[in-house]
Amino acid sequence: MRRFTLTWGLALLLILGAVLPACRPAPEPLAPYRPALISSAQDDLELLADQPRYDITLTVHLDRLLINGQETVHYTNVTNAPLEDIVFRLYPNLPHYGGRLTVTAVRIGAEPAIAISEAGETALRIPLTTPLRPDHELEIELEFALEVQPVHEDTVFGAGQGILSLPDCYPLLAARDESGWRTDAAPSHADAVFSDVALYTVEVTVPAGVIVAGSGITAEQTANEDSTHTWHLIGGPRREFALLLSTDFVSASTPVGETTVTSYYLPEHEEAGRAALRYGAAALRLYSDLFGPYPYRDFSIVAAPLGYRGMEYPGLTLLGLELYDQWINELEFRVVHEVGHQWWYAQVGSDPIREPWLDEGLTEYSTYEYYRLLYGQARADELVQTRWRAAYIYAREQGWDTVVGQPASAFDRNYEAMVYAKAALFFHALRQQVGEEMYMEILRRYLRAYRYRTATGADFLALAEEVSGQDLHPLYTQWIGGHPPTDSAPAGG
Ligand SMILES: [Zn+2]
Repeated sequence: MRRFTLTWGLALLLILGAVLPACRPAPEPLAPYRPALISSAQDDLELLADQPRYDITLTVHLDRLLINGQETVHYTNVTNAPLEDIVFRLYPNLPHYGGRLTVTAVRIGAEPAIAISEAGETALRIPLTTPLRPDHELEIELEFALEVQPVHEDTVFGAGQGILSLPDCYPLLAARDESGWRTDAAPSHADAVFSDVALYTVEVTVPAGVIVAGSGITAEQTANEDSTHTWHLIGGPRREFALLLSTDFVSASTPVGETTVTSYYLPEHEEAGRAALRYGAAALRLYSDLFGPYPYRDFSIVAAPLGYRGMEYPGLTLLGLELYDQWINELEFRVVHEVGHQWWYAQVGSDPIREPWLDEGLTEYSTYEYYRLLYGQARADELVQTRWRAAYIYAREQGWDTVVGQPASAFDRNYEAMVYAKAALFFHALRQQVGEEMYMEILRRYLRAYRYRTATGADFLALAEEVSGQDLHPLYTQWIGGHPPTDSAPAGG
């Protein structure tokens, strides 16, 4: 019966389709991004229908370390006032990225538009001839060329040891807040990128034999007549898009729920590359259970010429090559820290320039739960003592102790001791005060309330007070300082 109805329904649809092509339903605009998300996160896309959508095409000329690119950005004005301009960030032009990103053409609709370079050529302002009204949408098309340089110390961007590390290798819309488009720069010791979540399709054409690791799922890979290959990647919702390329990458994968975790490493680091995969998969599983599900179908851990550091991107983590050999003892902690950023950065965004402690402190302290549940309470306590308390005490002895709730530029050599260690001790003190169960409830509620949005320290404090019914201002003032809100929900509210 059901089959009969379906068959006739299908026949009718085909007939209607043949005679009434204009009546076919419009393709669902969010359909291209659905494969990037697990089933329980599919509904997230409906909430993000007005977020920017990037369609990026990149052609990589490996021999010349040159990339030619084109992108189309669908942008909706979600503010309640007309927009006079659109601003992109060109992060590769930051001195500590050391690349050269040049926009060669800008069109709005199909019309050529002018663009004004700002903020030391790290921002591009495009004045609109007609202001964009609230809820209205426009299409911006940019053509660009990117020169990649050899990596140097303190950079996450560039070519080195056979790997091209290319986070943010395209014009990225600046974040917007109540002050307008944000073009302020973070100091080189802090994370640079501040942006809102967006949906991505990215096509990367590379010489045959190059492996592409990106912050998105690879939907397909096609061979072209000129012996290049085009990789089709889908990412969404992501705050930025990172790409890494190498002919040397080997990889290993493992499933965690509906997510495939993949570790990309150099062949000489087989054992460490597989260990990174195990740590990453364990942390992803554990944090999903504790805080709320990891929404993407992919997570990649990728070796990069970064020394012994790690760097987080939505759906992807870079790990410095030295972590695979001389700093192997740091590998597990570094992987687990970076996985934490998939909750406290990729999902719940915060301002890395004005409040770097918020995601770094919480990400750092989230490792406490990993070590406690996997290795026992003693190991977790040891972490508190050796990694955070010792660093904080040392900083105090050096006279480096200061207010944690400050912009990244307020710190120098005390950046890690304050923004990571002392901030982690705030979350530890909070957990001690409200108890484990309440602490976890606060984090789960924080995730639900601010997923894909940007939270502030004041938002976190207000939410923690509301959930716990406790006055947490004294604790916040003691550890974070700065200016907590005075008008937040009163204790017991
Ligand atoms: Zn971090």
